Amino acid sequence: MTRRYFLQSALLSDGWANGVRVTVDDDGIISAIDAAIPSAPAGMADAERVAGMVVPGMANAHSHAFQRGMAGNAEYQLSAHDSFWTWRQAMYALAGRIGPEDLRILATQLFIEMLKAGYTSVAEFHYLHRQPNGAHYADGQGLWDAVIAAAETAGIALTLLPTLYQTGDFGGVPLKPDQSRFALDTDWFLRAIDARIAAERRSRRTTLRTGAAFHSLRAVPLPTIQESAQALRGMDPTLPLHIHVAEQVKEVESCKLATGRRPIELLLDTGLLDPHWCLVHATHATAAELKGIAAARAAVCVSISTEANLGDGFFDAAAFLSRGGRICVGSDSQATVCPAEELRWMEYQQRLRKKRRGVLADKLEPHVGTRVWRDAAQHGARAIGQPAGAIDVGRRADWLVLDTTHPSMVGGTTESSLDHLVFAGGRAAIRDVMVGGRWVVKDGRHAAEMPLRPEFSELMVRLATPL
Ligand SMILES: [Zn+2]
Repeated sequence: MTRRYFLQSALLSDGWANGVRVTVDDDGIISAIDAAIPSAPAGMADAERVAGMVVPGMANAHSHAFQRGMAGNAEYQLSAHDSFWTWRQAMYALAGRIGPEDLRILATQLFIEMLKAGYTSVAEFHYLHRQPNGAHYADGQGLWDAVIAAAETAGIALTLLPTLYQTGDFGGVPLKPDQSRFALDTDWFLRAIDARIAAERRSRRTTLRTGAAFHSLRAVPLPTIQESAQALRGMDPTLPLHIHVAEQVKEVESCKLATGRRPIELLLDTGLLDPHWCLVHATHATAAELKGIAAARAAVCVSISTEANLGDGFFDAAAFLSRGGRICVGSDSQATVCPAEELRWMEYQQRLRKKRRGVLADKLEPHVGTRVWRDAAQHGARAIGQPAGAIDVGRRADWLVLDTTHPSMVGGTTESSLDHLVFAGGRAAIRDVMVGGRWVVKDGRHAAEMPLRPEFSELMVRLATPL
């Protein structure tokens, strides 16, 4: 059924507009927009009136849902040498305990939290494939299906990125026992993705998409990445392809030792990168590498909450943007789940370094909040292959309604509303959330959150209890 909405104020592709009539078709796609309509026009009786500021929902371009089970539980000192690598051991211990039903519960809770924080779509970078004994699940891909079921319950748009994982380090080091659930054979991986793409082409559902990921250059040999990426491009020329890259100094050094090249140099050398690739982290990129990524029009996904939590290092967002780079954001390890926080810290990192303010704004868009939110929404949606990221004809109706009467918003102007969201309120002013023309959060509440709470609580207590 076609639905119509009368938005008091909205951030459209060409800027802010008041009095916006939006028509959404049966598939949840925006079919018409009429801006600058005077209030209370005739013939609008069938339109739902939306008070407040309507802005595009954010794409979460990088998520590992099972890691929601660790949030808050890894913030104590084990030794004077705690690092990403010691955190990884705790993460592996958690991964070893997660079954399909556990993952469904964790991911449902997480996806509800994402929606309430302003993420309307998510790319799940999924490398938990096998049973703890190393066998594949008998009913196909049990853990993949758990993520899909969770996204359906929560009502978030999902790009599932089945992730290839084959080696323990550069040079073909075999997987360790606690990595055995991640292992996939290349042919199995390609066949499974091909089958999913074929099924999606037969479906009318616009909120589920398959992409693919390579865990990292340390986990997949470069020739396998090259051959697989070419095979995947043959299946779908716009398939989202993601990879973790250059997150840790040690990773860069190991790559240089094994290959004589840095990880991003190796990827650039292949000539594979295109606008449907997303490099996750790229924290330790040189100026030449940033230039190369920008020239290929590939995206970089930063997750500053996770990069800070794990002590990774700084990604130089200002340098990448100055070369025309495309940046999107993600919640990654789920230490916190809030796009406003990711974007605030992307700007704050620059202020702390440069001892200046307003670093990521530009002449065309002087409001930092508007610039970073608008661009991350657009680039994120493109990077995860979702037809969203802007309120525009042909895009899916994924949007947030900001409550202009909330204390974090009052006193601002239309143009400063995203500054208030990013810098002053975080998620507090997000009142309603729509995905694909369907309200999934109303008045700050999600219909599934309270029914889920008992089983989520039971699961978290169980996971916090040592075996
Ligand atoms: Zn990650």
